[in-house]
Amino acid sequence: MSDAITAGATERGQILDGKATAMAVRETVAARVRVLAGEGVVPGLAVVLVGEDPASQVYVRNKDKAARTAGINVQTRKLDASVSQAELEAVVAELNGDSSVNGILVQLPLPKSLDEQRIVESIDPVKDVDGLHPNNVAALVQGSAGLVPCTPAGCIELLDRHAIEIEGKNVVVVGRSQLVGKPVAQLALMRNATVTICHSRTNDLAAEVGRADILVAAVGRAKLVKGEWVKPGAAVLDVGINRGDDGKLVGDVDFEAARQRAAWITPVPGGIGPMTIAMLLSNTVTACARQRGLVELLASAEPSGAEKD
Ligand code: NAP
Repeated sequence: MSDAITAGATERGQILDGKATAMAVRETVAARVRVLAGEGVVPGLAVVLVGEDPASQVYVRNKDKAARTAGINVQTRKLDASVSQAELEAVVAELNGDSSVNGILVQLPLPKSLDEQRIVESIDPVKDVDGLHPNNVAALVQGSAGLVPCTPAGCIELLDRHAIEIEGKNVVVVGRSQLVGKPVAQLALMRNATVTICHSRTNDLAAEVGRADILVAAVGRAKLVKGEWVKPGAAVLDVGINRGDDGKLVGDVDFEAARQRAAWITPVPGGIGPMTIAMLLSNTVTACARQRGLVELLASAEPSGAEKD
């Protein structure tokens, strides 16, 4: 077990502050945007919102604001919930063909009348900043350079920026969605963790969770993971966003009880959520640099590690 994990094992879990860490990531993104600006290049992000889903509206507003603050050129396309598959695909095709747009994000979920997978597949993979196109899924599995889904990337970034070692650790992921569970498991595997993926048919969830040096909960059920399941000294990443009985946001982990055992734990809200947005901005700048052949320039302009803390 790494020093970072064992250090807090006998104390109350330290907060993995996603909000503060996301700000640091966003500063790095803004610095990269300035480097690109020196070449006369402004990264462009197009966000497509279909319908009036209140949660999606909030997410899109937050993404729009964060991208603007980082110096990214954002356009948000709002389409009526009655839009047809062909009309939506035509919008995506137009954005695919627009060289000022480097990243395209279609806010999910889409209304049931639309074929979500076909829309995802219609996005040019090099502009797929959500990392959900089959080419990017394949790239992740193969370990080649694609675009990685933002929430899983945010989980790994949060661990890295707190020097929580992944290699050799037991990483247990609860949830196997395309969006979070599977890609975060894949990223942990790429970092040489021993990975277990749990789901609704897992026989003994408590026992699996109890083996986790690093636990990622991505289920969507309030306080499903009990505090007493958590291995003492573990790092707990709670991706879940649920409404508690009192109407407040809660995660998939019983935070207060888990905090008594964990070394590190993310709060909800203020944990993985802000990291997701920060990684979207990071993906947009990466996509832009790749499209413009400026990857090496960005790499040479990277800070020498000071910003990683
Ligand atoms: P999802 O597609 O609904 O997947 C949920 C997963 O949880 C499924 O694999 C399901 O298993 C598993 N599951 C359900 N009940 C379970 C149980 N009792 N025991 C063990 N596993 C169980 O959800 P998602 O898109 O991954 O999202 C998960 C949560 O993360 C949601 O609360 C969502 O709002 C939140 N989220 C947050 C962010 C963020 O930025 N913070 C981003 C994305 C998602 P089966 O496969 O067997 O059905």
